[in-house]
Amino acid sequence: MGPAPTDPDASAPAPHDRGAARAAHDAGPGAPPAATGRPVLTGLSLDALRALFASLREPAFRATQVFQAVWREGTTDLAGLSTLPKALRARLSEAVEPTATTVVEAETSEDGTTKLLLGLADGARVETVMIPEGDRRTVCVSTQVGCPIRCVFCASGVRGLLRNLSTAEIAEQVLRVRQRLGARPSNVVVMGMGEPLLNLKHLAAAIRLWEDPAGMDFGARRITVSTAGTAAMVDRLAEEDLGVHLAVSLHGPDDATRRRLIPTSPEGRVQDLVDAAARFARKTGRDVTVEYVLIEGENDRPAHADVLARLLVGRHIHVNLIPLNPVAHRPELHAPSNAAAHAFARRLEDAGVPTRLRSRRGDDIHAACGQLALERAVSGPAAPAPRSGDA
Ligand code: SAH
Repeated sequence: MGPAPTDPDASAPAPHDRGAARAAHDAGPGAPPAATGRPVLTGLSLDALRALFASLREPAFRATQVFQAVWREGTTDLAGLSTLPKALRARLSEAVEPTATTVVEAETSEDGTTKLLLGLADGARVETVMIPEGDRRTVCVSTQVGCPIRCVFCASGVRGLLRNLSTAEIAEQVLRVRQRLGARPSNVVVMGMGEPLLNLKHLAAAIRLWEDPAGMDFGARRITVSTAGTAAMVDRLAEEDLGVHLAVSLHGPDDATRRRLIPTSPEGRVQDLVDAAARFARKTGRDVTVEYVLIEGENDRPAHADVLARLLVGRHIHVNLIPLNPVAHRPELHAPSNAAAHAFARRLEDAGVPTRLRSRRGDDIHAACGQLALERAVSGPAAPAPRSGDA
């Protein structure tokens, strides 16, 4: 499956020396951020914070206060930790890096979808999207800078993988959205840039941070992890017992079609992947979603629907059909007509497979599925002045 991603340690400190950070970044794809010896506050579990405060000879309740300030109130500015004595705040600021991201740019589309471009300490950039829908405020989180899986219709993989995000860089995206909205997000979908299950260690730690009842207390049921991976990767996610909802990016009902659309997908068979998804559904007691990007002439024929239905019926799997969002690198690929998309959905439904046809969101600001790109991610200054944020 593509190049092996690097694995910067979850507790790897963020660089604060921009020069050194840029040098590390320039070292090439996969270069982790430079080390400063300081952990990032937003990547620390409550236990890790307790250990940190113990090393500062401070009582454990201080750790809880800080954890609550970050994850309940969304405070990432050390000066805003008003429950701490000033002297302790000063010592804390020497012990930790408060954040791993700054908001470099924010855009809101006509339908309310908001995209944040986040700058990382080594100069890399990632995007986080917030999609409002009724009462829901769903955050779409990135897990890698770039992506090693080159789905032909997705902008994230065009330039390959630069590196994995750290726990703090993943977890903090939800805080940045929260700070922007002034309100708690209601759902998280791990469907931004990158292949989440190739960065499972840091993703799992970020999910545990979101879920911690002492902090944000985010229900696992409101978190969806989406993967274009293999049966083995899905099984590994199941072993983590995170309680999250699973979405599998299938896109082709048979091996040949899937491999044409995901050329880097390993030898793994569609049938094995669906079997793993069904095992995941059995284990968690919740339906798994199969995501299927509809592309005219590629995978949208009635025969495709019939094969897909036979594969999925009765397996506690429902289908999310996503009409292709246009991407600049493959202008010849199109979504099917509305009528064709509806006919595809109806065919699956009639065969007994619960199906939803997704509407397009945020494409006027290039925030729709598959449009998160690296365009501005690797060039330009390493640390542009943040427009908001507090790092
Ligand atoms: N790598 C993971 C998560 C990121 S993609 C995965 O593939 O699941 C999240 C979803 O957006 C996937 O289902 C993906 O196939 C879909 N997507 C990517 N590019 C798209 C495009 N151009 N139009 C519509 N959906 C797209």
